Amino acid sequence: MSPNLATFRGGSHPPQSKEATKDKPLVIAEVPNEVIIPMSMHIGAPCKPVVKRGDHVYLGQKIGEAQGFVSVPIHSSVSGKVKAVEPRQHPNGELVESVIIENDGKDELPPDLEIPPHYETLTPEEVVNYIKEFGLVGIGGATFPTHVKLTIPEGKSVDTVVLNGAECEPYITCDDRLMKDYPDKVIEGLKIIMHALGVNNGKIGIEDNKPEAIEIMTKAAENESNIEVVPLKTKYPQGAEKQLITATTGREVPSGGLPADAGVVVNNVGTAAQIATSFQTGQPFYETLLTCTGEAVNNPQNMLVRLGTPFQEVIDQCGGFKVEPGKIISGGPMMGVAQFTTEVPVIKSTSGILCFTPEQAQLPEPTDCIKCGKCTEVCPIRLQPYQISAYALQDDWDECDALHVKDCIECGSCAFVCPAKRPLLSTFRTAKRALAQKGRK
Ligand code: SF4
Ligand code: SF4
Repeated sequence: MSPNLATFRGGSHPPQSKEATKDKPLVIAEVPNEVIIPMSMHIGAPCKPVVKRGDHVYLGQKIGEAQGFVSVPIHSSVSGKVKAVEPRQHPNGELVESVIIENDGKDELPPDLEIPPHYETLTPEEVVNYIKEFGLVGIGGATFPTHVKLTIPEGKSVDTVVLNGAECEPYITCDDRLMKDYPDKVIEGLKIIMHALGVNNGKIGIEDNKPEAIEIMTKAAENESNIEVVPLKTKYPQGAEKQLITATTGREVPSGGLPADAGVVVNNVGTAAQIATSFQTGQPFYETLLTCTGEAVNNPQNMLVRLGTPFQEVIDQCGGFKVEPGKIISGGPMMGVAQFTTEVPVIKSTSGILCFTPEQAQLPEPTDCIKCGKCTEVCPIRLQPYQISAYALQDDWDECDALHVKDCIECGSCAFVCPAKRPLLSTFRTAKRALAQKGRK
């Protein structure tokens, strides 16, 4: 690994654990008999269902209407009949209003399906509006609606689009696969985003543990004078928005600021590829790429899965469990969310289904902080995790605020390196929730 590769300050080196799937081809998952489509798959206001029990729906038909600006419509991932509209378990742990659709197996498209004109003939506003109507959100991240990211606040200006191909979470390999198998889609999506923002400078950041993806993407971009592939040091959390901006452009986003404050908009390579697909086919975001993996799964795979497919169906298509799992995580091991049932559906943000054995799932008993400072060394935001955690354990939210807990990106690097195995991340999440509640009051 070259010592001169682009990167950021701090960070950690968790084991990569990508061997099980990194060289496996993309598999198109079988479509289930029934899909469960939650009306909340993005940050912002949940959608309002616009179908009812008994209705026939087409593949890609709008079934949830966006509510407000920070919201995107939701579409059916099958054709068939609406069985119910009712609260169902969501991967975020809550019960969320969902549309349950019985698949008729026909994948019938709406008769009025419209293929958009070529993006270069559209104004930036028209492109952004299509992106909203396609239901696009940041894939693999915080599911921020893409059209909101592409609407630059007054007084700010952007000159660069950065695509995140870092895929720094251990175990997850679907973006690597996407870049190797569909490099032209990623480039096309990036060009559409650049057109929507009126910028002339595109970069694609890829960690150097994906040499093939770097090579393939570089070749795909060789005729694009304004697009550059930037190899990055393999370090966690290289794919976090602010860290990626620093690594690819050398710019810093100020504390509490937005990427636009550094003149940049960041999107995931998966989002870019979905934008390209939607503009080519006229079809909205109804299927996603994910990696189903972990030592408790028989045949880990990279898969293209319809939204609303229950986790258990995906796991079954990977040969089921090798052993009774000790922990199931939606996402990667560092930032993913533990699940207590496999009946939850795949949603727009599901980048991974990770199944740990009972031994891997066992958490070590925390001991007292020995003030070694390792957590401070690795924090990419330059916070003081042990101090914030100490105040959070005393419910002293004002001190947590003064120590900038709100800037914590919840990457988990501090908890990973802590020799005392302190549950740092969970205390920060509690502090942030408490401060958000206080703010609302
Ligand atoms: S790494 Fe753990 S033990 Fe070391 S200072 Fe931070 S919290 Fe304390
Ligand atoms: S304090 Fe937050 S941002 Fe810093 S290392 Fe810990 S989890 Fe990551």
